[in-house]
Amino acid sequence: MSDLIHLLPDAVANQIAAGEVVQRPASAVKELLENAVDAGATHIKLIIRDAGKTLIQVIDNGCGLSERDARMCFERHATSKIQTANDLMAIHTLGFRGEALASIASIAQVELKSKRIDDEVGTSIIIEGSEFKSQSPISTPEGTSISVKNLFFNVPARRNFLKSNTLELKYIVEEFLRVALVNPEIAFTLYNQDRILHQVPASNLKQRLVALLGNAYNQRLIPVNQESGIVNIQGFIGKPEFAKKTRGEQYFFTNGRFIKNPYLHHAIENAFQQLIPKDSFPTYFIYLTVDPKTIDVNIHPTKTEVNFQDIKSIYAILHSSIRQSIGKFNLTPSLDFETEPSMDIPPLPKDAEVKQPVITVDPEYNPFEKKVRPQFEIPLPPRGKGNEEQWKPLYDPLKDVHFKPETLSQEGQGTQHILADWDKDASLKKHFRSFQAQNRYIISTTQSGIVILDPQKARERIIYERLLSSFENNLPSMQHQLHPQTILLSPEDFEMTMEMIDVFGKAGFGIREFGKNTILVEAIPADCVEENITDLFESILEGLKSGTDDGKTKLQVRIAKSLAKSMAIFRKSRLETEEMEGMIEQLFACKIPDLTPDGNPTMIFISFEDLNKKFK
Ligand code: ADP
Ligand code: MG
Repeated sequence: MSDLIHLLPDAVANQIAAGEVVQRPASAVKELLENAVDAGATHIKLIIRDAGKTLIQVIDNGCGLSERDARMCFERHATSKIQTANDLMAIHTLGFRGEALASIASIAQVELKSKRIDDEVGTSIIIEGSEFKSQSPISTPEGTSISVKNLFFNVPARRNFLKSNTLELKYIVEEFLRVALVNPEIAFTLYNQDRILHQVPASNLKQRLVALLGNAYNQRLIPVNQESGIVNIQGFIGKPEFAKKTRGEQYFFTNGRFIKNPYLHHAIENAFQQLIPKDSFPTYFIYLTVDPKTIDVNIHPTKTEVNFQDIKSIYAILHSSIRQSIGKFNLTPSLDFETEPSMDIPPLPKDAEVKQPVITVDPEYNPFEKKVRPQFEIPLPPRGKGNEEQWKPLYDPLKDVHFKPETLSQEGQGTQHILADWDKDASLKKHFRSFQAQNRYIISTTQSGIVILDPQKARERIIYERLLSSFENNLPSMQHQLHPQTILLSPEDFEMTMEMIDVFGKAGFGIREFGKNTILVEAIPADCVEENITDLFESILEGLKSGTDDGKTKLQVRIAKSLAKSMAIFRKSRLETEEMEGMIEQLFACKIPDLTPDGNPTMIFISFEDLNKKFK
């Protein structure tokens, strides 16, 4: 019998490596940009078509490649950057695995054109799926241009796994930003479908940040500077009052490379603690420089994870330098002092009289009579006959209801029964009033038990279903703004908003383009209670970006989910009785009242039967 083990052909090995290095167009973008930086370019152009699915091209004016190197660079483990394993310890350049080009060329059609400064002619190479097609001399400017066409053309399975163009483009722009933010001395241009998305000249760091993020950042950033033997820290943090509802603007760089490090991220978040609202994220652009010998960047194929030798000290230094920067800019005067807030109370004037506080009581006050205008005027969808027919036969006052998602059928069987209860007992409704616990939960009864409802979750469901129906019948209900508001978005968020402007319109947003990366919000959906439109909009975009895009869920459903989640948040915690009851009615008018669009419970039901058992 012959032997079974043989070496994999290079093309196969490269494809396997590609699985690690190139997951999506953005990964190829990262590798190509890093190579251009390593080549000493002073201007780098990135050209994208169809979110990188049909074309990614990087043009640099760097050192270029010789005729031989142009062939060699596509070989596996071909690198000019390290020679011995020892070099690994002190490497300063970005890429050093010698894997990227070989991997990319194994899963795409690649054309490289390059010329060194001293060469008469340049060279052009075409490689498709690891297969060498041709090499010829050409006339080309100094530097290198690499076009990656039809990524994954020979790996349909991977191609099918790619997300929508919107999302893939977002990943690409993110990689672009990560490289552009750490190389301010290099000029960058990013073209998407022949339109310039970003164009930034060589500059200093602050100018680079402002150029990429928008002029508004001029006022928003505080510098961070700290030199020590272990680590040098530089960069900028956003003033706490500009903390964002979106996690987007958090960047960590170490020795010129973007990295992720949850531990150090925590050092920063912690320094911002109590200065920004719980649901907001601090903005930061932090650049660490450490002795390359004290880190290991090679622990991850995409090189975004880094091991630090002395991470505990770095944590402490980072934390304190952020606190210092915040303190220095006098943002929180009491921050660095251990003063009790009560000690700031000014002393009484000398012969001032100290008065007993007076409590006034209104003996006529009857909380149940007070007429208030409910804050939530969500038009009730007609409770059609069809719906009634669904729940009537299900009505069974003795049947206990569990609100675990898995026990519920699509029709929300369980809750139809509570709804029936609620509807039937008009007299009960008159006598019994819902009340609120902890300024949050609404507690109410039905004939067969007690319902405890989370108003925010309930609103999520109510708004979600209303949005879906206004998408369907194209009848959004909007509130026009007396003072239309402009919102400055990041270029990516702006692009995303423009792409979805129709759907936003159907949801009730009146949005117009209003200058560079700026939108004008003229109307918002009727059930919006959030006063801060910018906050609301940012959180909607964040929801859309972080939501799962399995490529199957309809865009409208994803948008409805994200909108509902953001719009459901309301600052007001105490609700009037009418508001509570209005909400319960609206919730039970929903198709699936007991779950949020994400499948979390909106309410809990405890049957009297269960209660009785407990008191036995
Ligand atoms: P690595 O960057 O880890 O060395 P790559 O596969 O990314 O591996 O690149 C292989 C080699 O090709 C690099 O070491 C470099 O010598 C050369 N190279 C790649 N891109 C460029 C470029 N834009 N300009 C000049 N040389 C390049
Ligand atoms: Mg490389």
